[in-house]
Amino acid sequence: MTGPSGTAGSVVEAAPADSGPSAGDWAAAESLLRNLSPEARVLLVCHVNPDGDALGSMLGFALGLQRLGVRRMQATFPGPPEVPVPLQGLPGLDLLVPATEAYPAPDLVICFDAASESRLGELVDRLDTAGASLVLDHHASNTHFGEVNLVDPYAAATSVVAEQLLTRLGVGLDAGIAECLYVALTTDTGSFRFEATTPAVHQLAARLLATGIRPGDISRRVFDTRPFGAVRLFGEVLGRARLEPVAADGRGLVWTWATLDDLVRHDQRPYVLEALIDSVRCTAEADVSCVLKQTAPGEWAVSLRSKGAVDVSRVALALGGGGHRFAAGFTGRGTAEEVVDRIRGQLDAAVIPSAGS
Ligand code: AMP
Ligand code: MN
Ligand code: MN
Repeated sequence: MTGPSGTAGSVVEAAPADSGPSAGDWAAAESLLRNLSPEARVLLVCHVNPDGDALGSMLGFALGLQRLGVRRMQATFPGPPEVPVPLQGLPGLDLLVPATEAYPAPDLVICFDAASESRLGELVDRLDTAGASLVLDHHASNTHFGEVNLVDPYAAATSVVAEQLLTRLGVGLDAGIAECLYVALTTDTGSFRFEATTPAVHQLAARLLATGIRPGDISRRVFDTRPFGAVRLFGEVLGRARLEPVAADGRGLVWTWATLDDLVRHDQRPYVLEALIDSVRCTAEADVSCVLKQTAPGEWAVSLRSKGAVDVSRVALALGGGGHRFAAGFTGRGTAEEVVDRIRGQLDAAVIPSAGS
């Protein structure tokens, strides 16, 4: 029922995407879920190459819906049905189905952590075939592509929005829901290190921990474990990093790249590269960091980070992607050098004026 044409009315007015959900949005979302018939098929979808927030908010919400009595429910994401090993301990994984097996015409589709329809890959058609669509997200760039949109750019993670909706629906936290939401929250706040780590984030973390989940075990599994081959791969990729102090009007750029051949030589899966940006962005001499991860010949998944002087979401949006001010990404085409050249070309304009010189 929804889709590009059906949602146009709510999208066009360059609605200040930073205002967060209105009382009407919350009420509409509640009513969609409270009025589900017992036979309704609910499809939950998160963004391609799911991270901890995508999977954690989706599965935590799915477990909450089960508690509400929803019986016919699938969770899925576009692309190969491969869950990164660090996330394979998440509760609720039994609800996951490959995208190829997802209900073709669910009664309700709920999207998690996806800023735009393009992040839903081949599952984007469900926005049209579903009886209704609900979007839960926290990207300021969200295009409000659902029939009902709960988009809160001030939320540190989509899981914050998910927990608020569960609370409104009267679903209390249990350890399963809490573990999913905790993984999501720690992933997107860099384990409570990023600017989005508000008092409310810590209060949510406290409620989640009060269910008895074990933060040490969870963090070790999700953040601090990788195969020896990945450790060596990281060494090689970090060893070829390049520092360009004059880029971004003198704020500096550091970048590196990993090819499919690198993965083969070290016998590693692509998701191990997701943690690489965290080592690169430590570079003191650069505000902006970038990792190019080859996904096919001439195609790269590009991760961008800033320490605060540059709005990298502007760079990513200009190059066809999206994200947050200080963490964004896009798909780059050509050689690594060509892609970085395009990034260089966007950086000066993306320096935040108030960040001073
Ligand atoms: P990543 O570097 O993959 O961890 O992504 C950082 C941020 O950028 C996340 O908020 C993503 O949602 C967003 N992002 C990454 N890749 C893309 C893309 N190809 N298109 C739109 N947004 C993206
Ligand atoms: Mn995400
Ligand atoms: Mn997120």
